[in-house]
Formats: sequence, structure tokens, C-alpha cells
Amino acid sequence: MKPKVILTGGAGYIGGAIAFVLDREGFEPIVVDDYSTSRPHKSFPFKVHQVDLKNRAAVDQLWQQLPPVFGVIHLAARALVPESVTKPGLYYENNVMAAVNTVEACLKRGITRLVHSSTCALYGNPVQVPIPESHPQAPLSPYGESKWMVERILGSYEKLGLKPLNLRYFNPAGAIAGGKWGESHEPETHLIPNVVRFGAQGKAVPVYGNDYATPDGTCIRDYIHVEDLAMAHVVALKYLEATATTVKAINVGTGRGYSVAEVVGAASRVLGRDLKIDWHPKRAGDSPRLVADASLMRKELGFEPKGDLETMVRTQSEWHSK
Ligand code: UDP
Repeated sequence: MKPKVILTGGAGYIGGAIAFVLDREGFEPIVVDDYSTSRPHKSFPFKVHQVDLKNRAAVDQLWQQLPPVFGVIHLAARALVPESVTKPGLYYENNVMAAVNTVEACLKRGITRLVHSSTCALYGNPVQVPIPESHPQAPLSPYGESKWMVERILGSYEKLGLKPLNLRYFNPAGAIAGGKWGESHEPETHLIPNVVRFGAQGKAVPVYGNDYATPDGTCIRDYIHVEDLAMAHVVALKYLEATATTVKAINVGTGRGYSVAEVVGAASRVLGRDLKIDWHPKRAGDSPRLVADASLMRKELGFEPKGDLETMVRTQSEWHSK
């Protein structure tokens, strides 16, 4: 029998990708999602337990019914930075309560391995790039603040036996190979899906800001193929099983940054069309350069991302054309 892994927030873009990779790697994902920011999708073959993680009784009830579980991957959270600025309560209520209820239910069941989806947003405006895990925590938004809170809350449960590992995502992008599962938000704010979408429509790509202090004036990000990010969770769970004293937080990126203009250039090559740029003013809150120091990921997890920028654009394009 396949070991089972509870996957909260498993019906969204990243959660769904993790479900596919868990299945491929010999685990059975038990997907829990309230569909508050996602919806049932014909491309998603896994059963979804529709439970609001803010509801402690409902969480306990589901967890009690489950067969033995190898570990939990906790993603369920609101994750839009601008929305968190206008609705902080929504973020603290959802993200903090969901995490507390998940941990409480897990410990009641003796489930101790927990991988949490954290974010590079908790570093704020970096004072050092590439950004190491030891960088000061100074989130600029309630979203980042809520993730930082959850990291510390998980730490409080270690005395009760919890083994948490926070994966701090940089910029996940692309789709599962073959366009099986990918990103489609409405409205879409992320760069790579927008480049693919505008490219497919023959329209110029909106780019925000051209006078940042970077070589070509556009912002630099560390994009990681979503399939690699998903695999990092599987590796992290095995690491929690195999390692007694683990580190608590690991950046998940490639350590290589690309500017927005470089992404548009790569997409032009992959899509075989000369994409034009429609220059816009800077977007509020964009940091000029966010690149992971990914050495801890390589050293502790022994994990090496495989997908390059072209993979991300190509798989996103396969998903988009579906
Ligand atoms: N960006 C852009 N055009 C878009 C979407 C994003 O120029 O249609 C830029 C954005 O200003 C930022 C970078 O691309 O500099 C990455 O943005 P994204 O929203 O993908 O990720 P973020 O790093 O903001 O989480």
C-alpha cells in the first residue's frame, strides 16, 4: 500500500502539482481543500475532501477518520500580497487558524512530519542577495507576516513532538510536464502565465518598470519550475523521516535570477514569436532583485531543480493551450 500524505490546499496551482508528484513518487495524496480560492477542475484526478480548515471540529473529524498517514504538507492559505494589504483580517484568520487547527489535529493522530509552504516574502526588501535563510525577517505585507507567524507557531509545537520544515518558495512557474496541471488565476498577476497568454493573443506583454537598479532595468526573480518545487516537498518529507535534527527552514529556488526582459526574450524563443513589451509604471511593492541562496537546499535535501526557464515557459504554454 502506498504511504498516505495529507495535502491541505491541494486543489490549487501548487498543491495540485504536489498531488501529481506525490502520486508519481509512490505516495497517495489525501487532498483537503475548501475551494475558497480554487475550484473543482476536470484535469484533477484526485478525490478532494472539502473541509474548511478554520473549523476545528470538522478538521478533527476528518483527521480521525483517516487511515495511518506518513506526513502532512500544509499549503492551505490565502496568498495574494495586494489583497492581504487591504484585507489583513482575512489573512491572519485563514492562514494562522488553518495552521493551528491542522497541527492540533495532526498531533492528536500522532502525525509529526509537517512540511509548510512558506515564502521568500518574509524577507521583505532584502539587504543581502542571494538571500540566505538567516536573512532578517521583515515582511512587507500581512501575507508575509502571516507566513512568518505560522513558521514561529510551528516552532512552538516542537516541544510537543512536531517535526516542522518550512519551505520558503521563491517564484514557482510553469506546469507539470505535458501540460497536466498548471496555473490559471483570474485575474492573472504572475509574469510567466501573462507572457504566455499575451503572446498567444499576439499582444504586447505588460512589463512594470524599466529603471530598476538591475543590468537591464527590469526586476530580477528566481523562478523555479512548479514540478521541481513539488518534488522538493516529497524530498523534504523523506528528509524529516530520515534525519533526527533537521533544519527548520529551507529556501526553494534555483539560485539563478532572470530579469523580466530575459523572461520575455526566453518566451519569444520558446513560442517562436517576437514578443513585444508594453512598458507600464512600476508596480507597488516590487523588489528589484529576489534570488535565493539555494545552497542549504542542495546540502540538506540533496535536491537539484531540473527545469530551466524554457521548461517553465514551454509547459505553461502546453497547459494554456489545453
Ligand atoms: N511582471 C510584469 N508583467 C506582468 C506580471 C509581472 O512585468 O504581467 C513583473 C513584476 O512586476 C515583477 C516580476 O514580473 O517584477 C515577477 O512578478 P510576479 O507577479 O510573477 O511574481 P512576484 O515576484 O511579484 O511574486
